[in-house]
Amino acid sequence: MKDDCLRFELTLEEILLDYQKVFSKDAAVAVKLQKKADFLYVQITLEGEEYDPLQETASLVLIKTVHKWDSAPSYEYQNAKKEIGRNVLTYKFKVRGSLRENLIFTWKYTRQSKGYLALAVALQLISVVFMIIAPILSAKIIVQLTDIAVYQMLWTALSLFAVNIASAAIMAGCNWAYNVVYNKTLTLLEAEISENVLQIENKAVEENGTGLFIQRLTVDTSNLATAFNTLADNISQICQYVGILAAMFIVSPLVFIAVAILLSAQIFMELRRQKVSRDNGRIYRNYAEKYTGIVGEMVRGGKDIKLVNAQQQFENDLKERITNANDSRMKWDADNRKYRLVIASVRESGALIFVALLGGLLFNGRLNVATALILFNYYTSLGMPAITLLGTILDFVTQFNLSSERLRDIMDDRFFPKESFGEVHKENLNGEIEFKNVWFSYNVGKLKTSTRWVLSDLSFKISPGETVALVGRSGSGKTTIMNLISRLYDPFSGTITIDGIDTKDLDRDSLRGSMSVVTQSPYIFQMSIRENLRIVKPDMTEEEMKKAATLACIDEEIEAKPEGYDTVVGEGGISLSGGQRQRLAIARALLRDARILLLDEATSALDNVTQDRIRESLDRIKGQCTVIIIAHRLSTIVNADRILYLQDGRIIAEGKHSELIAGCAEYRELYEKEEKQS
Ligand code: ADP
Repeated sequence: MKDDCLRFELTLEEILLDYQKVFSKDAAVAVKLQKKADFLYVQITLEGEEYDPLQETASLVLIKTVHKWDSAPSYEYQNAKKEIGRNVLTYKFKVRGSLRENLIFTWKYTRQSKGYLALAVALQLISVVFMIIAPILSAKIIVQLTDIAVYQMLWTALSLFAVNIASAAIMAGCNWAYNVVYNKTLTLLEAEISENVLQIENKAVEENGTGLFIQRLTVDTSNLATAFNTLADNISQICQYVGILAAMFIVSPLVFIAVAILLSAQIFMELRRQKVSRDNGRIYRNYAEKYTGIVGEMVRGGKDIKLVNAQQQFENDLKERITNANDSRMKWDADNRKYRLVIASVRESGALIFVALLGGLLFNGRLNVATALILFNYYTSLGMPAITLLGTILDFVTQFNLSSERLRDIMDDRFFPKESFGEVHKENLNGEIEFKNVWFSYNVGKLKTSTRWVLSDLSFKISPGETVALVGRSGSGKTTIMNLISRLYDPFSGTITIDGIDTKDLDRDSLRGSMSVVTQSPYIFQMSIRENLRIVKPDMTEEEMKKAATLACIDEEIEAKPEGYDTVVGEGGISLSGGQRQRLAIARALLRDARILLLDEATSALDNVTQDRIRESLDRIKGQCTVIIIAHRLSTIVNADRILYLQDGRIIAEGKHSELIAGCAEYRELYEKEEKQS
């Protein structure tokens, strides 16, 4: 949406400037907004001779073609028999999330428990009948009490007791059925949203931050899971109130009319409160999402925040976000309180008028005591609940629409693009990797930023079983190459192939299943070491697990722990040292037996001795798989079959270590500096 707004602003600005140039500076432009069905039309009209700004303005054409903007404006010249025609430009925006669409979306997840939903509604409707009978019985008791008809009164009291107990039992059953619906819906919905979140392109996750996803996965899914329950519950309650009103009408049409007027006044006030509350709620939720985002970072990055002494900065930022969230919630609450106070005054005045009316009718003999009591009971059970019900329904619709929009966005490729894979399935790839004229930038296609190429026309080929090292200064594009091979990102142009097949054509298992990637700070999950390893190979044997740990030089340390491989590591592997995390990740990678091994500074946290031991392990598997290594210390890659030296996203030299020392001044310089330091 942010991009849409920006595009709208930019294009409108250009159109207006263009019109100014062609017509006069003071030419009047009319803007008209119109909502039809699920679309919002924005019409820009200027009277005068025919002039199509879309043909002249290059960037508008660009937005239409390159950015494939669905809402790009269309041009039309209207001069239906008039002397002066009208230049009309129309933007057409799809309005998202109508209630109907959102309900259809949610029904997909509730449908499987529709039997329970039907049971809940049926039980609730039965209890509604009881609720209409109960006031009649209690009125009867009072009349019988005043008449001192003790025997009849006892019978009525017993009937009332039976009605109330039955009603409570039925409601318990009804709540149970609603609960089943809620749980089943939530399970399905959470599973699907989680699946979608995991498929979202890396880029989109980075841009949005984790808070947004956590908020949507927890709060919004829950709002949706209650949707049909709330709806059914509300409809049943409406039936109850309609039943009470009908009963009132039968007893006294005059009282019915008075009640209808009194209720309407309160309902009108409640509607006003709702409108204000809806707007306030939207503002609050936006701030809350930002707040959750930073809290997540604070907890995950707590250690680093302390170490870089950024508490103050973080606290300030946090305070600002908390203040924004709290202020907006306070305003929300304050507005609600104001309206509720007014509504309460209206309600109490209504009650007074109602009692006065009953008194008048009793006095005139147009009502007997029993009927007056029934009407009074009905009014008390109608008054506030009926009005709050309307509020609850509107609140629910607002929350429901917001939550649905947020969850549907997550599933929508336009807002959160998903990774897509090809159809080609290859069981045993050999591991030949080729880059052909690859161009890549992290910000290509973004509005308001000029493209900065990270890889420029890059071409190279790596043979199966070859060990290749990528060397170059920080920021030269080494990690980006790894990211492109594993398709965390796709190139802007050019192709990347594995065994001659474009990586875009390979299915996920063939591509990601054929490679193991170890990064500088690998993520270790909060589970046992064994489970952390099993995650990549569910059928691993004890022997395979130990062999991988031995190759990664971490076996002894794991076995020295009291619980050995069953030791549970903290979130993100926090209870392990940086070096242990890296070696566990290497073990995890080796366990997979993948044809391609990508090591991105995978041993940077290790001491020289351990690093040498790992290098020896890698030497042992040399030739069995293609290995690409990025290493901070050049001493770890001197034995590589080939070294590619990168500078600003281009290979400026390649060869064996000795060849580069002889022929590449930049490489020699890097190597000599390192030699001197050690
Ligand atoms: P290297 O691994 O050689 O240090 P990288 O491939 O990590 O270099 O980065 C190359 C360039 O791309 C750097 O200028 C870096 O700032 C930029 N870059 C890396 N990752 C991202 C990202 N996720 N978003 C935007 N820019 C990035």
